[in-house]
Amino acid sequence: MRLRHLEMALERLEGFPAPSPALEQYRTPAVVAARLLHHAWSKGDIEGLVVLDLGCGTGILACGSMLAGARRAVGVDVDPAALATAGENARRLDVAVTFLQADISDHGKIGEAGPYDTVVMNPPFGAQKPHADRPFIDAALALAPTVYGIFNAGSREFLASYVAGRAEITEVVEARFPLRRTFRFHRDDVREIGVEIVRLVRQ
Ligand code: SAH
Repeated sequence: MRLRHLEMALERLEGFPAPSPALEQYRTPAVVAARLLHHAWSKGDIEGLVVLDLGCGTGILACGSMLAGARRAVGVDVDPAALATAGENARRLDVAVTFLQADISDHGKIGEAGPYDTVVMNPPFGAQKPHADRPFIDAALALAPTVYGIFNAGSREFLASYVAGRAEITEVVEARFPLRRTFRFHRDDVREIGVEIVRLVRQ
């Protein structure tokens, strides 16, 4: 699978129809989503496996997993409007993805569509609600043995201590990407942010 092909396919997807600041609905740029998926694929964590996208929003990681050869992909989000766009995006790429409306803390409901081999996620960074990423990390580790997440640059230490005794950080891939102005309180039209794509393996 070629990284550039995946990136080009994902660039065709629609973003959030009406992004909610409270839910931190930032679309993952195609270049970052493709990077995460290609890396996970190269580690053998996608092909032929069942992949769960937590906080899937418009479904870029779930749809991209199917393009990268997943056997099945499930996307979970609390927002029905985002899930409607996610469904359209899956049709656009001609991939079959199961989208499920659920809160991230409802492990039982999410688990019913499993079991899962790998979680891919771009959780809220906690800019609006401190520690909003924690229930995502908890859900991910409860639902799959291997997890790929996108976090703010510099999250490594917090993450390592937060998952201590439950999981190990086996890899960190650094990436930078331009964040387009999404909300009124954003001061700049485009701001470059640094992120870390982290691979966690359950102990
Ligand atoms: N990965 C997606 C969206 C990232 S934004 C993309 O790249 O397009 C984070 C997503 O988490 C949003 O879609 C938001 O609706 C969802 N979310 C926030 N809190 C949630 C919760 N408690 N339960 C489920 N989803 C939640």
